[in-house]
Formats: sequence, C-alpha cells, structure tokens
Amino acid sequence: MASPKVAYFYDPQVGNFHYGPGHPMKPHRLSLTHSLVLHYGLYKKMMVYRPYRASAHDMCRFHSRDYIEFLQRITPQNVQGFTKCLSMYNVGDDCPVFDGIFDFCSRYTGATLEGAIKLNNNHCDVAVNWSGGLHHAKKFEASGFCYVNDIVIGILELLKYHPRVLYIDIDIHHGDGVQEAFYLTDRVMTLSFHKYGNFFFPGTGDMFEIGAESGRYYSVNVPLKEGIDDQTYMNIFKPVVQNVMQFYQPTCIVLQCGADSLGNDRLGCFSLTTKGHGECVQMVKDFNIPLLVLGGGGYTVRNVARCWTYETSVLLDEQNSISNELPYNEYLEYFAPDFSLHPEVTAKYENLNTKQYLDYIRQITHENLKNLQHAPSVQMHDVPPDLLSLENIEDPDPDMKNHQNDEDMRIEPANEFYDGDRDNDKENEMLDV
Ligand SMILES: [Zn+2]
Repeated sequence: MASPKVAYFYDPQVGNFHYGPGHPMKPHRLSLTHSLVLHYGLYKKMMVYRPYRASAHDMCRFHSRDYIEFLQRITPQNVQGFTKCLSMYNVGDDCPVFDGIFDFCSRYTGATLEGAIKLNNNHCDVAVNWSGGLHHAKKFEASGFCYVNDIVIGILELLKYHPRVLYIDIDIHHGDGVQEAFYLTDRVMTLSFHKYGNFFFPGTGDMFEIGAESGRYYSVNVPLKEGIDDQTYMNIFKPVVQNVMQFYQPTCIVLQCGADSLGNDRLGCFSLTTKGHGECVQMVKDFNIPLLVLGGGGYTVRNVARCWTYETSVLLDEQNSISNELPYNEYLEYFAPDFSLHPEVTAKYENLNTKQYLDYIRQITHENLKNLQHAPSVQMHDVPPDLLSLENIEDPDPDMKNHQNDEDMRIEPANEFYDGDRDNDKENEMLDV
C-alpha cells in the first residue's frame, strides 16, 4: 500500500513562547520535536507548511467574542486593570498571562484549522500539528494550560465536509473541552482514554458521561487508573476503538496525542513507552481515513520530542528506517545520557488497572455503542463519505478565502531547512528551560 500523503505544519516561532518560570507547559518542546524531525530527514517525506495564523474571527466560531477580545488585549503589563476578568475567564495561575498569549493561540489554532482545510480538499491524507491539541479550553474560559480550543475549531471546519467526525484523545487528562462542545450532537463522537479518580485534573470523564439529547451515546469515556503499561493500554484501546469504528463509521478522525500519558512524565502517572503510545497512532492511521493528528499535554520535554518524532515516522511508514540512536541536533544534551529515541521506561507506579476492571469498562462501552443502531438521528450506512453539509451552502468565511488563495505561497521549500552540523541558523533560538 502506498504511504499516506502527509501535510506537516510547523511555525518557527511557536516554540519561543513562555508560560513563565516554573510553569510545566513549555512550548520549547515543539522546537525540540521539529529539530528531531528535521535531523532524521523526515521532512523530505512530507509536505511541510508554515501555517496560517487564526484570526479572532476564526476563534469566535467556538469561543465567545468577549473572551477572545480579552485574550487579544491582555498583557503582563496591563494585567492590573483586568482583575475582574481574570477570574471570570479563569486566567491567572494554571493559565497565566504571558507575552504574546494571543499570538501563540493564533499560531497553534491556525495550524489545526489549515490541517482541517487541507483534509477537506483532499490535499493530504494525514495532517499533523504538534503545537495543537489544547483540549481543555472552554467556550467562555481558559482551562488546564489551554486558552483557545483549536480542536473544536478544527472539527467545526471538518464538519463542513464530513457527516461524522471521530475524536480520539490519548492524553492522560480527560478531553473535557472537546466533549463539552459536542455533547449534544451525533455529528461528532468523542472518545477519551484518561486517568480518572483521586481528584486528577479535570475531574470529569467517568464512563457514565455518554452525551445527551441527540448526542446521547456519542461521548465515550475510558477512565483508567494509574500505572497503565503498553500491553494493558492496548488491551483496552484496540477493542474499544475497533468497536467505535464499526458502530460509528466516521468519515474522518481527529487524534489528540497528548504525551503526558508516557511513563516518567512530570505531571502524569501512566507507564507508556514511546512505542506503546505510537502503537495507538499506528492503529488509527491504519484505518486509512482522513486523519488530523494533534499534540496536547506532555511535560517531560525530552520525552515529548521523542514521542512526537517517532509518531511522525509512524505516520510516514518510516518507523523502521529511523535509528534508535538520535541524530546530531542542536538540542542533543537534552537527551543525555542515552541519546536514544526509545529510552527505557522505569515504571514508577504500580499498574492498578486489573483485567476485571478493564473488562467491565469494555463491556459498558459496548452496551452503550449498541444503542447507536437504534438512534434515529443519524442514518449511518446511507451517507456517502463526502456529503456536504448544509453549513457549506453559506458563503465561505472571508478569512478563509484569502487564506486559500495564499496557501501555495506559504509552502516552505525544503532548502529552507538546515540539514547538517555546519548550519547554525537556529542557534539563537535556543532557550533555557
Ligand atoms: Zn494532559
């Protein structure tokens, strides 16, 4: 089978934003990831784009106008004048005000949106944006290090062309913002695998949150306990995803690949290896339907970069041709002492997920999915894959029109990237973490 056509979005500035000293979310991980992708030569196998930057108008497809205007106006210098707004929009501690906050959101959201547009137009089979996947952001407020929910905005774009979009989330945290946005509709099924219990953030995502009204049975949650390893994870991930695919028959998939589900994550408590995490990506890719791949959480910077680099290779069918020994790159010292792509994971937590517990979850999700067959709201088997929805009859968004016209201008020629030891172009972008 031919390898999929992969469109990869990377904004050279996105890794230079700082949430502030000591904050676990470090956009710098995106620079490390991209550096590995380049030095493994993976950029030669895909189309690399400098992404579109989302406008406030694009963001207001999901978010309230007053919240987005607040994000546009707030700076660390004027924060004193906004004390009331800060608590209203949940901005302050977990979601701090930092320099360029709106610009940052605009870059990661634009990349997700452009990925969705490329998929809609069949310009690629897979679109990748490691800077996206900020699944906690809500319509009216920030949450869990997320300000703008690029995933919801990307899915709204996909719904112009796709009758049924499946969202799969393998971040260790529940994909609450995306679930909430589509809780009442059968056009999007959300499926989240996450740690649940003992007040683990965000506290939602038990297996009885199943959606409501037309969306009843279209939210699927797999609440896990700490310490889950590769084998146990696959034992639940595979059958549940297969079941969901069979019952829902999506025409497009959005996969959030939060890397805080890896072992040794600074905030997480699972024991997945990069290979185990990548196996989920492999399985989803093998369905061969349009796929939007996004990042998400991930707080041990070196492991996030390893994971998303490996997963880029999986999407390109190149995982067997890249070496475990990392190529020379300007961030090499981050990967000491082993300098390998697949370091050993030492399980810090006992695996509390028993076979009985997982069998129980599987059974409940299966019972819920069986109800879909009787759902009157969607004729699952009669819808052709590229059916246009009514939304699409409206005039296209003017921002998008310009954006489409310019799109070829923004393709990055491969020679813009350095590919050797002697090229030091990006040295001045290196930051302390
Ligand atoms: Zn997370």
